Formats: sequence, structure tokens, C-alpha cells
Amino acid sequence: MQIENDRVVSLAYTLKDNDDNIIDQSDDGSFCYLHGAMNIIPGLENALTGKTAGDELSVTVAPEDGYGKRDDERIQNVPREMFPEDQEITAGMQFHAQNPDGHDIMVMVTKVEGDQVTVDGNHPLAGVELNFDVKIMDIRAATAEEIEHGHVHSPGGHHHD
Ligand code: ZN
Repeated sequence: MQIENDRVVSLAYTLKDNDDNIIDQSDDGSFCYLHGAMNIIPGLENALTGKTAGDELSVTVAPEDGYGKRDDERIQNVPREMFPEDQEITAGMQFHAQNPDGHDIMVMVTKVEGDQVTVDGNHPLAGVELNFDVKIMDIRAATAEEIEHGHVHSPGGHHHD
């Protein structure tokens, strides 16, 4: 079976930046995704199309095909009163926020200065070239329900966030 749309693919992978730092790793094949449903970044998904179980490949993904370029306009100063009063706000904290399009995004506090809080809405991996070493562990056909939902269901049944 080849990887194509509507297949559930399990992978073992190591993700490194250009300085050889391991960003993410999963080596037991427990990571799986639904091909063609934008579950994973496009640069990696495209490289996997047509591959079969047992194949190993190294893929370098440019930021444009990964988590995007860094955008300085996503760094904003917001008043302290936008945050819960009873919570201490410090650099490194992450919050849900809405971008101007109304999409739910994560923003990270990068600085707190007096009444001003600086938040960065860029993905932490924005602007980073991604180097994947991937082994394809298993490929199966997705169920009708998985295709309808656009994600993989675990073998034990159906659970959602
Ligand atoms: Zn579902």
C-alpha cells in the first residue's frame, strides 16, 4: 500500500533544526496522521506521498512549507488589564488569543514591562528550517468516520479533545 490521500500513516521520526538540536522525536510508531487532511506540515506530507511501509527518508522543509516565516507584525504590546488580574504574567507564558481573522492562536508572552505586556503570535518554529529523518512504520486505509472528521481515531475507539 502506498501513501496517498485517506490513508492513516504511522511514522517514526526525528526532527532537528540546522544546528542539530532535536526539536521533536517519536520512535515507536505511535505517531500517526491522516494523509491529505493537513494534519502535518505540507512540506513533510508532500514528501511522503507515494512512499510505502519500511521506507526511510530525510526531508528538509523550508519555513514556507513548515510553520511559516516569522512575522514581526504578530508581535504586539497589549495592556496588562487584558490578562486575568489574579494571575502573575511572566515571559514564556502561553495564552489562547484570536488573530484578526478570528482564528484561535497561541501567543507567547515575551516581555512584561510595567503596564505593557509584549506577546508574540508567531509559531515557535516559524522561520526555522526543519530537518526530518522519517521511517514509515505502517499504512492503512482510513475509516469513513476518520475521513469525515479529518483526523485519526485511536484503536480503542473514538475520543476527541
Ligand atoms: Zn473524530
